[in-house]
Amino acid sequence: MIYCVEDEAHIRELIVYALKNSDYEVEGFESGEELFEAMRREMPQLILLDIMLPGQDGLEILDCIRSNDATRDVPVIMLTAKSSELDKIVGLDKGADDYVVKPFSVLELIARVKAVLRRAEPRNDPYTIEIDGVEINDRERTVRVDGEEVNLTYKEFELLLYLFKNKNIVLHREKIMAQVWGYDFEGESRTVDVHIASLRHKLKDKAYLIETVRNIGYKVGYP
Ligand code: CA
Repeated sequence: MIYCVEDEAHIRELIVYALKNSDYEVEGFESGEELFEAMRREMPQLILLDIMLPGQDGLEILDCIRSNDATRDVPVIMLTAKSSELDKIVGLDKGADDYVVKPFSVLELIARVKAVLRRAEPRNDPYTIEIDGVEINDRERTVRVDGEEVNLTYKEFELLLYLFKNKNIVLHREKIMAQVWGYDFEGESRTVDVHIASLRHKLKDKAYLIETVRNIGYKVGYP
């Protein structure tokens, strides 16, 4: 899914039309407000973001996207009206993935979209991950500890998979919440702790794989 934020209806419609024609799923929005509302429903693979918008402008929206753990990694292509504006934005280095200067050709836009999506594509993840005798099979949704299957709840499985995929990376509770429970989840971060405790219990003598990082969150650590 690609989201496009552009207040000028004819440009927005042109972009939506062009992307649909190239077999992308796309939704157009007039403002950042509408964009953030949509992101609570579904995370896009890419955002096309106009800079000159009434209300919150594109750069402010980009700041919000980049400062929120749940949306930080979504690729963004900025749409800018003049190249002088472009120079300024590139100079500011706000973390956009690419820029397109208006007026742009549809072909140029599609080419940029393809390039950014290609870069963002996860490398073909293997569907089993094994760390020190604990094996997760993402396709079968099973977990084995030293060859013996253990039963995990849905969320426990998601949580363990997320930790394993991010081996040796310290994960903040908030980030874990956003990734495993969803952007919109309004629970307490204690939920994470409770699930971690249960996971450790089920991993038995492999419980040490899940390390507590004080005041921050957790990581799966293994050399
Ligand atoms: Ca505009």
